[in-house]
Amino acid sequence: MKDECIYTTDVALDKDGYPRIKWKKKLWRLNRLIYTFANGDIPEGKVIGHFCNNKGCINANHLYLTTFEENCSHAARDGLYFTGHHNKHIEKANVDWLNISKMYHEQGYSQTSIGKIYSITQNRVSELIKKHKQDYEDYINDR
Ligand SMILES: [Zn+2]
Repeated sequence: MKDECIYTTDVALDKDGYPRIKWKKKLWRLNRLIYTFANGDIPEGKVIGHFCNNKGCINANHLYLTTFEENCSHAARDGLYFTGHHNKHIEKANVDWLNISKMYHEQGYSQTSIGKIYSITQNRVSELIKKHKQDYEDYINDR
């Protein structure tokens, strides 16, 4: 499913919540490495943004080239999602609780590392998981 976020559980996260990996003797943010494989070298001074706003996501379709400044202004966040011209991704906010629940219940992420990935507090992660416990169980039963 090309539009779902992809996470890795085998890779340590750096202090900013990005998965990191060593490749050709260099330490890479996994999303930069994936982008490079998919699209070629990243020009100097450019950074990789996430359409889906999930820092830990390594789905090449969710990555785009931007500048640090742009990335910050695009990342005007209201809890979990982009505002402004990333409107089409707001709908995705509704499924974020599902991603978060999956990461917690199925993929073995701690609430703290989920918080880092989504740039939210561990309390908020815990809240979301609790709030959507029933939804998540329904989802499991429907699957
Ligand atoms: Zn994604």
